[in-house]
Amino acid sequence: MKILLVEDSATLRYAMRNYIIDAGHEPLVARSGEEALQLLENTPVDMIIMDVEMPGLNGFETTRLIREWLAGHWIPIIFVTGLNEDENYREGIEAGGDDYLIKPVSFMIIKAKIRAMERIAEMRDQLSRLNSELEALSQLDSLTHIYNRRTFNELAQQQWALVKRHQQPISALMIDVDHFKLFNDHYGHPAGDSCLKKVTQAIKSCLHRTTDILGRYGGEEFVVLLPETDAKGAMCVAQSIGEAISALQLRHDVSPTDSHVTASIGGATCLRTTGHDLEELIKNADRALYKAKRAGRNRSWVDEVATHKTLLLADSNLELIRHFTHHLQTHFNLLTAETQTECLELAVDLHPDLILLGTNIASSPAGADLCKILARTPKTAGINLVLVSEQQNERTLELGNTLGIKHAFDKSLNGPALLNKIVEFIH
Ligand code: GH3
Ligand code: MG
Ligand code: MG
Ligand code: MG
Repeated sequence: MKILLVEDSATLRYAMRNYIIDAGHEPLVARSGEEALQLLENTPVDMIIMDVEMPGLNGFETTRLIREWLAGHWIPIIFVTGLNEDENYREGIEAGGDDYLIKPVSFMIIKAKIRAMERIAEMRDQLSRLNSELEALSQLDSLTHIYNRRTFNELAQQQWALVKRHQQPISALMIDVDHFKLFNDHYGHPAGDSCLKKVTQAIKSCLHRTTDILGRYGGEEFVVLLPETDAKGAMCVAQSIGEAISALQLRHDVSPTDSHVTASIGGATCLRTTGHDLEELIKNADRALYKAKRAGRNRSWVDEVATHKTLLLADSNLELIRHFTHHLQTHFNLLTAETQTECLELAVDLHPDLILLGTNIASSPAGADLCKILARTPKTAGINLVLVSEQQNERTLELGNTLGIKHAFDKSLNGPALLNKIVEFIH
């Protein structure tokens, strides 16, 4: 352990320093309370042995200052002093000392006391490690008692799956306190913590559905998931949250934005979840938050995630086109082409995310040409092609091979199986 020895008498300093070394520890020496404080500013120590009577700051005063300074972090402090009145002992413990030894002190006593304090310090370390582990295991953030980021993500995934099944819209909001670093610097960290708790309550007061989920995403950043909520709804909630936070009227004298605490809110909405995922929604809300900050803070900005991927379906079989239009049109921006020429034109002009080719077109000579042109035209070369066949059989495989199309599926596919297949090809 690194032990700070604070002692104004040169003789005692010498003796005690040797005791510390002989006990197997590393001494750091200060001749006064002032010097001790200076040393502590740059060097962390594990324990302090402190004289009481010293010119300038005495040991009790120095200890009080150290305790105030290291508020969250306890280190053992042992007084070694000639003051042997009961009252002195009481004052030493009150000042923040952990033990009080009367001079002269033998090597054996010093060594034993150091060992005892070392044991307590080890327990402190173990406790703080366990506390961090517990916090990680717990579902709630310890300051605000709302979901921590991990739990938020888990619950949000469940809501995402439900919304996806029912084909409902879903929105997310990111809420970030404006100029919170300045707030902390000006009013202190404990005031910052208390501000975050009040902001949490303000946000909570604006969420009314049991399915809405609120989490603490980072330091002064909150996230809200709003299932079954479109962009208009998300904007409404965002604005009410912004107003509720302003209405707290928490003074922020050093904010360049306002004289009170404000927040910027970014939102994103997915009207159709097909082809998208939760991470993308949150990322978009984060981007919108950035826009709200850039636009001057203390405001909300909600974007719609580009919800429709574009599919181009080409075949001369109208029944096949009707079948797929029926199953896909609510999930995708669906383009249809009945001829090769039409298909090529649409592919070049509108650059779909995926082209579905029916076997009627694909198996004709013009179909083979179409595939070649699509593959070598720079604007269309990157687009995935999928063969839609009557049945998956040898012939389909052969046709796919000749045309250089790697993917195929059966035209009878429908419902979620069809959607999942298509999404898989798009990614
Ligand atoms: P901006 O308006 O761009 O969001 O500026 P900002 O200062 O709010 O943002 P920045 O990300 O620079 O600073 C966030 C600050 O939040 C850093 C830290 O001081 C403070 N902070 C983070 N977590 C906590 C916490 O748990 N308690 C307290 N009191 N402060 C925190
Ligand atoms: Mg002295
Ligand atoms: Mg932030
Ligand atoms: Mg901030």
